[in-house]
Amino acid sequence: MKFSVATLLVSSAVSMTSAFVPASTRTSPFALKGGMSEDVGLPCEDDCAIEKYPNLPESIHPGVLSGQAMMDLLEHAKQNGYAIPAVNCVSSSGINACLEAARANDAPIIIQFSSGGSQFYGGKGLDNSGYRAAIAGAVSGAFHVRTMAEQYGVPVILHTDHCSKQLLPWVDGLIAASERYFVSHGEPLFSSHMIDLSEEPLEENLEICKDYLKRMDKIGLLLEMELGITGGEEDGVDNSDRPIEDLYSKPEEIYQTYEELSKVSNKFTVAAAFGNVHGVYKPGNVKLEPEILNNAQEYITEKLGDKAPADKKPVMFVFHGGSGSDVSDIQKSLGYGVIKMNIDTDTQWSYWEGIKNFEAKYHDYLQGQIGNPEGEDKPNKKYYDPRECMRAAEVNTVKRLETAFADLKCQNILGLGQAEEAKNVLGPRRGGLPV
Ligand SMILES: [Zn+2]
Repeated sequence: MKFSVATLLVSSAVSMTSAFVPASTRTSPFALKGGMSEDVGLPCEDDCAIEKYPNLPESIHPGVLSGQAMMDLLEHAKQNGYAIPAVNCVSSSGINACLEAARANDAPIIIQFSSGGSQFYGGKGLDNSGYRAAIAGAVSGAFHVRTMAEQYGVPVILHTDHCSKQLLPWVDGLIAASERYFVSHGEPLFSSHMIDLSEEPLEENLEICKDYLKRMDKIGLLLEMELGITGGEEDGVDNSDRPIEDLYSKPEEIYQTYEELSKVSNKFTVAAAFGNVHGVYKPGNVKLEPEILNNAQEYITEKLGDKAPADKKPVMFVFHGGSGSDVSDIQKSLGYGVIKMNIDTDTQWSYWEGIKNFEAKYHDYLQGQIGNPEGEDKPNKKYYDPRECMRAAEVNTVKRLETAFADLKCQNILGLGQAEEAKNVLGPRRGGLPV
């Protein structure tokens, strides 16, 4: 069964009642048959058309991954000691910078939306009662990522970030969108969602997560859950005055989580607390202790006995609040089973810094529609065209992400080699200033 995007968007208003086909993702390695490129009538060319990445398992293909293909990629990261950068995006421009950076680094990437970022994607002028704007915004972003990831030829995990108890209706809306998408495409719209109930008692956190995991596993979605507290402040949640001991997870808690969630599915990751803090602050009295993750892996391996995996790293960990961390601490955590690191603050800065530098460089051409140092009647249209400062922001972000890919040892993963220079891009005369 195959719908065009337009039909799909209309049909998504109808609730899905038919029974699910058991969870499976694309079984064919020729992934883009049935991909978005077919939906939009843009046959794959170049990297988009490859059938298999030279260095990766067969299931992994250009475009958004879910189900087994996503698990194969995460397992590859764990086995090879790298983590995939997970970048918070709030616009199509930010997403494109991520895709460009992934291809430039010959690597996979995780693109994620926070609830606030999703709402922004839909537009702050739209009423958000019942999380309408946040749901529609994230779905819109998902279609953008799905369409463009294939064209850039990179594998992408499409994720949503922190979802507290009160925000659950937002993720409910997104899972429902994935269930509808599954009916027509055999895979979910998103790859994974985070549910962050670390504010709630552990038993309640686990009960709710298990219920969600049951529902999500049926269509190949992965659940990221949070244990303990990430310090600092992000997206309206302020943990900056929590007691220090709450910032470190205990091995017993991580084991209990692993045991409970494993009963439902293996499609989960754990954001454990090891002194990580959201945002960049002056060094304080919270210290990053990646060994906590290693201790937990050893503790769980011992508990599992014969059932422990050969690599003795049963848990896939996610690193939140890594901005400003020492590279040595980041890289230590990679050996302890961290396969995803969130990046928000540093790319917020790089995007802004690109605009700041652009404004400084062309300041005298940006003070009015007409008139600059070359003459009172000279037009400035080509300077204030928003594409110019946004492209400067993108270029600076691609550069910052290269550092992230390097820090996380996530370079030259796909085996495609260097990206070809983009051709037929409109030059300076048609609206493009040197950045
Ligand atoms: Zn976080």
